[in-house]
Amino acid sequence: RVVVVGSANMDLVGTAPVLPRARETVLGTDFVMVPGGKGANQAVAAARAGASVVFLGAIGSDSFGVTLRARITAAGVDTGQLRVTYGPSGVALVMVDAEGENLILVTPGANASLTGLTDAELAAVRGADVMVAQLEIPVETVTEAAVAARSAGTRVVLNAAPARRVPAELLDLVDMLVVNEVEAAALTGRGREAPETLLDLVPRAVLTLGADGAWYVDRDGTVAHVPAFEVEVVDSTAAGDAFTAALAVAWGEGRDLLDAVRWAAAAGAVCTRRLGASVALPHRAEIDELHAR
Ligand code: ADP
Repeated sequence: RVVVVGSANMDLVGTAPVLPRARETVLGTDFVMVPGGKGANQAVAAARAGASVVFLGAIGSDSFGVTLRARITAAGVDTGQLRVTYGPSGVALVMVDAEGENLILVTPGANASLTGLTDAELAAVRGADVMVAQLEIPVETVTEAAVAARSAGTRVVLNAAPARRVPAELLDLVDMLVVNEVEAAALTGRGREAPETLLDLVPRAVLTLGADGAWYVDRDGTVAHVPAFEVEVVDSTAAGDAFTAALAVAWGEGRDLLDAVRWAAAAGAVCTRRLGASVALPHRAEIDELHAR
């Protein structure tokens, strides 16, 4: 069982030939509304990867909240403890131009209100094999959940995204850190040339490098490069979410860590074959199929 503590956002994506500038209005071409947020994405990804998943988060009292809950639940995630906070849901306003260049404004909305976890929420954390968290909710909340996890033997996987510094108080509770190059640099000041510097912070870490695969390092002395699977890439959005979720699922199933990282790399690769974020998250059979190649 996996518990995900994190954000849920509605992504409002508009496309236009060129992006507007300040005080300018531009007539666009298309619009789509898609559920997102790293927390919700990773919860859905973990469910599709085959785990029983509880999602702890907060949605607003607006219609986006209703849609978010419905979509996360439809993916097979337990949303029974998802909070509804009076006010707006988290929203990402995304504008994309013909070159794929984008402009993104994220308003956290209800995500910012996810503080002071209840006894029931903490019990869900303690009841899981693995807890997965990211940094789109207050870091104090992630720390609180991690304390509960550690007290119960629930393994703590932190995807330290978006990039920022993380208090030592939280890092000390992390069993497995998952970061991309930008996030690693924010934590250690070093990038792909020195994945092992992450071990100054946590006992195990994965550094993901997109099409260049990933590094797995641990304090037992393992420094292993896991190559990316070769696929026809359409859109790499959410590859990191698919990767983190699959890694947590595989680790929760007791698989060997290097094999878990390889399976996660397959999940990330499958995700890049499809357009979009949450809709592109891979199912277990697809991950298994690529992993077996
Ligand atoms: P993020 O989206 O967080 O920046 P990455 O882009 O590093 O994360 O992707 C996470 C993982 O997904 C990579 O380590 C890799 O295994 C897989 N992946 C990402 N992009 C590709 C790609 N173009 N081809 C194959 N695998 C990919």
